[in-house]
Amino acid sequence: MSKEYTVFPIKNDSACVYKWAWSTVKLYTGTASSCHRVVPVKIDINDFDNFHNTTPVIEDRVKMMNGEWPVDRGCEYCKNLKILVESVTDFIIMKSLG
Ligand code: SF4
Repeated sequence: MSKEYTVFPIKNDSACVYKWAWSTVKLYTGTASSCHRVVPVKIDINDFDNFHNTTPVIEDRVKMMNGEWPVDRGCEYCKNLKILVESVTDFIIMKSLG
């Protein structure tokens, strides 16, 4: 059976858009993260313009571009959700085919 479909939150096989387009910044802790689930990264106050391009986030992007999930970064929630939804979708498609 073809697995051409992809579902929320990963819209393609390579990346989560939040890794590129979003930062949750906590000024009171001096940290930023790609979303509220991701492990926060300390912002270098001397390089604040790059608060959205910290080394861990760049490494996460490289992994996602290679079709891999970041490890121990908080993205396990979405990884597990995607696996669950694909399993349920496979089950529903199989049942609908008889
Ligand atoms: S946990 Fe990771 S994969 Fe999920 S929305 Fe946040 S950044 Fe994206």
